[in-house]
Amino acid sequence: MSLDTPNIQTTVATVTSPAQGPLHRNTHTYDLMRQCIHCGFCLPTCPTYAVLGVEMDSPRGRIYQMQAIAEGRMEISPEFVDHMYCCLGCRACETACPSGVQFGKLIEAAREQIQLEVAHMPILSETKREIAEPPGNGDFPLHEYADKRPALESLTERLLRSFFFDLILPSRTLTSLVFAALKVYQRSGLQTLVRRLCRRRCRDS
Ligand code: SF4
Ligand code: SF4
Repeated sequence: MSLDTPNIQTTVATVTSPAQGPLHRNTHTYDLMRQCIHCGFCLPTCPTYAVLGVEMDSPRGRIYQMQAIAEGRMEISPEFVDHMYCCLGCRACETACPSGVQFGKLIEAAREQIQLEVAHMPILSETKREIAEPPGNGDFPLHEYADKRPALESLTERLLRSFFFDLILPSRTLTSLVFAALKVYQRSGLQTLVRRLCRRRCRDS
């Protein structure tokens, strides 16, 4: 089957090219992300950073990754998608930012770019995929990821969103308790111990 088939032509023609997405140089989004001065003031306000303790799941880390994509230093990968979809979109980070970074707009742009990349790969039969898959992306076949996207949203994002928005954030007492517990967890050295045990377990398995 060739690309001349009318059905395939229709699919490709109606999808915006990811090259026109918002995560590129010379876009308004790029100007917004360059407002970040990497001070880290936003880190204590970010619930995903508080829970996961990973820089790439903090506002600063997410902006760093977006900028790397925009500057062509990084490709959109499953890890990048994970970090972007793990964000709750609560915009608590904006309240602490001395530089006025509009993180809400940035995370929307990153997700739009991801959607464009995924949408650009029509979910076709195996034969058609061979035709539609662009060359040089063997490390990250997007059509495979397209099937997994709902699972990512439903697991990581939904669990965290429901935990924080339905249970923790409506209650001032629970919020204070959770953050007090996290502080104890981090400062007591328990966090370091857990990480070491996890690393050892990964090595042994
Ligand atoms: S929007 Fe919320 S979850 Fe996302 S980076 Fe900002 S504070 Fe963290
Ligand atoms: S507080 Fe604002 S400027 Fe500082 S690292 Fe966070 S997003 Fe960037």
